[in-house]
Amino acid sequence: MDCLFCKIAAGEIPSTKVYEDDLVYGFLDIDPQAPTHIILIPKAHIASANELTEENAGVVGHIFAVAAKLAKEQGFADAGYRIVNNCGKDGGQTVGHLHFHVLAGRNLGWPPG
Ligand code: AMP
Ligand code: ZN
Repeated sequence: MDCLFCKIAAGEIPSTKVYEDDLVYGFLDIDPQAPTHIILIPKAHIASANELTEENAGVVGHIFAVAAKLAKEQGFADAGYRIVNNCGKDGGQTVGHLHFHVLAGRNLGWPPG
């Protein structure tokens, strides 16, 4: 499948890996929007949050647990951080493979956009 993040997870396109297990791959965003900007993806291709079902959504909980682990390990858990999923055109999704941004290292402001 011609999918950028599938190719990154498979090592066919280079990335700066920060996490990997059987289900999830994590890497640094190429255009960071905060001092820490990690992308966490399921290795299985899921096009967007719109494609989540009771059958495949378990990986999302796992991704949040990985984010919490990285936050502790990288020292931004106490200061706080934001986990973001952009879905579809109005959501600002530009890569058609489900992914979660983990942003940290500055006050992120609210509301977004
Ligand atoms: P989104 O706009 O939510 O779909 O997020 C896509 C993210 O992927 C953006 O923050 C991009 O900077 C990031 N991105 C695109 N290509 C790459 C790449 N080759 N390596 C790392 N991050 C990328
Ligand atoms: Zn994919």
